Amino acid sequence: MLMIDGMLGEGGGQILRTSLALSLVTGKPFIIKDIRAGRKKPGLMRQHLTCVSAAVKVGNAAVEGANIGSQSLKFEPGAINPGSYRFAIGTAGSCTLVLQAILPALLIAGGPSEVILEGGTHNPYAPPFDFLDQAFLGIINKMGPVVSASLIRPGFYPAGGGKFKVEIHPSPLEKMDLTRRGEILNKTAKAFVANLPEKIAAREIKIVRKLLGWENCEVMNVPDSHGPGNVLTLTVESENITEVFTGFGVKGVTAETVAKRCVGRVKSYLAADVPVGKYLADQLLIPLAMAGAGTFITQPPSRHTMTNIEIVKQFLDLNISCTEMDDHRWQISIGN
Ligand code: ATP
Repeated sequence: MLMIDGMLGEGGGQILRTSLALSLVTGKPFIIKDIRAGRKKPGLMRQHLTCVSAAVKVGNAAVEGANIGSQSLKFEPGAINPGSYRFAIGTAGSCTLVLQAILPALLIAGGPSEVILEGGTHNPYAPPFDFLDQAFLGIINKMGPVVSASLIRPGFYPAGGGKFKVEIHPSPLEKMDLTRRGEILNKTAKAFVANLPEKIAAREIKIVRKLLGWENCEVMNVPDSHGPGNVLTLTVESENITEVFTGFGVKGVTAETVAKRCVGRVKSYLAADVPVGKYLADQLLIPLAMAGAGTFITQPPSRHTMTNIEIVKQFLDLNISCTEMDDHRWQISIGN
């Protein structure tokens, strides 16, 4: 039985999700202690609990300790069950994080699956739907499986009420090298508002045009959102990869500041001349580790990335090296 330390490195919910995902994929049971012990509200919150119950259903697993606030959990997976699923978080917790726990197993399952997720779709500190769809699934679709995601309704924090569907046609994952971004093909900005004045989005786009000079910019009004929301999405589509950068409108922060911060992240990605951005780096480790090999070049690794590497190594017997190339670029190699 693998023993996972929930306080390791970054010490957040990602340790639990990566453990669930890789336990399903490898069939290895685990016990995790001190789940999110360093966080303000430690233990399992609704999003994490939904990850656990989704993993239990998908993997016919036996579980102990699956309740709100629980700081330890025992998880013993069975056979993977592809099929039709619907998981509702019941709060604005992030649907894309729930998907992180079950998608890896469904990518290599014995048949296709369709998963409907309900909750938050555009949450700060989680992959927004557009990032999942274009950046993460963009790479997955190059590795063998065919996966499509469609947004049914966006859900913003704190109201939630969002929904999206993911269709998965599995296949063994092929090794992937992402060492060059290639030519930039498209740069697009989308600013959307829900139940808020459209001028907020227009002000964000004005900053994007001024600071980045991008022409392909759009302001969108989300008609049927359960609550207010404002998100700025900046997408850089290159030959070998698409990266998505997101700014979230927050009360008390001007639209200009939201846009400037997001533009700053795009500028540092472009200046680093790497294919893989900071967030994609920690998320790509799982499919590349499942493929058994892969190399990518990215910005200096985050604590999430370093923590995920440690968890991956506990489930899979792989070498993972992180090498600093210069101040802005690191190479991460798996299995070689
Ligand atoms: P916590 O225990 O801290 O509440 P959590 O369950 O909310 O944790 P984290 O452990 O912080 O989640 O993991 C967040 C995940 O979301 C990471 O995989 C990270 O790459 C991803 N992420 C965060 N922000 C973005 C973003 N703007 N774009 C894409 N991915 C993001």
